[in-house]
Amino acid sequence: MTATSINGIDVVEDQPAQSPLTRPGVHVVFDKIRHLLLADGSEWYGCALCDYTSQNKNSILPHLKAHAPKKAPSSKAGKAITAVRPNRAPSSAPSSRRTPSRRADGGLASLTLGELVTRAQQTDQLREQRDAARAELKEALRQGNGWKSQVTELRAQVEHWKQRASVAERQLARVGRLVGASA
Ligand SMILES: [Zn+2]
Repeated sequence: MTATSINGIDVVEDQPAQSPLTRPGVHVVFDKIRHLLLADGSEWYGCALCDYTSQNKNSILPHLKAHAPKKAPSSKAGKAITAVRPNRAPSSAPSSRRTPSRRADGGLASLTLGELVTRAQQTDQLREQRDAARAELKEALRQGNGWKSQVTELRAQVEHWKQRASVAERQLARVGRLVGASA
């Protein structure tokens, strides 16, 4: 549980700390690091899992190792960021909606016109998502190369975006096959 007061001074604002990967258009936050504003106006960073706090954001990441599960480091890759939202208006997020799988031989013939239109729109959205994920991946890789203290976190971010890029890629390929579009 994140600290609700520090040295007797109340925490008046508690929100996810912003990741250095944030830039115009994409808001990226740490899910286990909180950015705390105290009643006296001072800013602190806190652990989301316990009441550990510090005014140095860089000391929270090493602290988080104390909470790390003992096994399967690969299983936590990709979970480091839970909240990533574009700053622009929300789209209908096709990735959260499972497209019913169809046999390849049934394919196009069994789609209604409405479904075709939907798929064509999805193609655009997916292409956009793939490009965004690729850009994130590139950025995470770039930062990961020169940033020793946050290597673990960044590696998780790299995995996260790598996964998003490949999921978008697969969806795009599937939708593209059905509507005859090319990426
Ligand atoms: Zn902690």
